[in-house]
Amino acid sequence: MTNNPTPCDFLIIGAGIIGTQLALTLKRRHPDAHIILIEKEAYPGLHASGRNSGVLHAGFYYSKDSLKAKFSKLGNQALTRFCLERNLPINQCGKLVVARHQQDLTGLQELYRRGQENDIELQLITEQDAKEIEPYAKTYQQALFSPTTSSVDPKIIMTELLHDLQTENIALHCQELFLKREKHLIRTNRACYAPGYVINTAGLYADKIAKQFGFASHYEILPFKGLYLYKKKTQEKLRVHIYPVPDLNYPFLGVHFTLNTQGDVKIGPTAIPAFWREHYEGMHNFKLSETMEIVTRQLGLLMGANFNFRQLALSELKKYNRQTLVTHAAELAHGVQLNDFIQWGKPGIRAQLIDTRHKKLEMDFVVEHDEHSLHVLNAVSPAFTCSLPFAEHLADLILV
Ligand SMILES: Cc1cc2nc3c(=O)[nH]c(=O)nc-3n(C[C@H](O)[C@H](O)[C@H](O)COP(=O)(O)OP(=O)(O)OC[C@H]3O[C@@H](n4cnc5c(N)ncnc54)[C@H](O)[C@@H]3O)c2cc1C
Repeated sequence: MTNNPTPCDFLIIGAGIIGTQLALTLKRRHPDAHIILIEKEAYPGLHASGRNSGVLHAGFYYSKDSLKAKFSKLGNQALTRFCLERNLPINQCGKLVVARHQQDLTGLQELYRRGQENDIELQLITEQDAKEIEPYAKTYQQALFSPTTSSVDPKIIMTELLHDLQTENIALHCQELFLKREKHLIRTNRACYAPGYVINTAGLYADKIAKQFGFASHYEILPFKGLYLYKKKTQEKLRVHIYPVPDLNYPFLGVHFTLNTQGDVKIGPTAIPAFWREHYEGMHNFKLSETMEIVTRQLGLLMGANFNFRQLALSELKKYNRQTLVTHAAELAHGVQLNDFIQWGKPGIRAQLIDTRHKKLEMDFVVEHDEHSLHVLNAVSPAFTCSLPFAEHLADLILV
């Protein structure tokens, strides 16, 4: 194994949507390149890329200078085209952002301003207009309507991309775990590679891998769990997604109503601090050393952070309670009944980065690279939406 490392032009670690889109982008640009994509699971997209809300965001939450703002609109358009051209399900339902009280109106105006700055189609409307768009919506005086926010099925998109990998003859090695870097060699549980260029798109483990290459020196992952509650299927259906005005100091959007591609409704996701990176349910994937490392990080933030981690953690932990989660959702819509929300959905975990120098949550995507490797850190929401133009941007950074 040591004597005969397998050569390749690009070795990509992690087959979520970012690694997969980047593999396809590189192949389009370098048709003769030998690209290997390794994935530790049996199938691509089993983590964030297959466990998200499935919303194609429009791009009005993010400040103008951010990568999120730069890629949301283009990414939304690209995945919309992808779904329409291939006849994949998409629900182009649009979304309302509602104000719960007077204090939300400032945030609503700020979102409208950001939307205009980012050249996003967005309407600032009255309470009456909001009722006409969605009779169940509750809002105070004003609301925002985003016609281009939609829903896709992330699993179907991942399956389609997997098919494209096969068509393009890109080698996908599942159940292959990156273990370590030894100078210019990469060791996995199965093989040893001598890649021309290494790309780290490992989501929840991206910080750990980046550190082996001398990157992410002041970054660590702080995982946050997103729980969902499904609404019973009933005759009355929501017409649009309904979101609250978020606290723009955090990268989370607050508990909201999301419609899937069939128009079924779920509420969530929460942003509950998780105790290990893949802490989805029960003790699944529990790792003692990782838990100690994450809990120590959380305790450090409780002692002092640039944001109120204590308040965030306490308010989010309460959302493990079904009634609390439904009560939050009931602030946004009429007719919300606890008994309609019984079934918990499959949770997802955000690979949220914390800047350890300033003890703050990183708001934008972070990319670090040199002439040997590139590391995608903080590929949090809306990275699914942004995936295609983001992959083009990453390919631009890899100067070969
Ligand atoms: C609850 C939730 C809701 C969200 N909602 C939305 C939304 O509505 N719209 C939107 O645009 N975005 C949303 N997002 C964000 C979006 O899902 C992510 O930004 C996106 O999926 C990130 O993709 P990724 O490829 O970076 O990560 P992942 O999908 O996590 O892929 C990383 C891959 O790397 C693999 N890996 C890790 N370590 C190793 C290793 N050592 N060796 C080999 N493989 C490894 C993992 O198994 C995994 O498959 C949401 C995220 C969450 C958690």
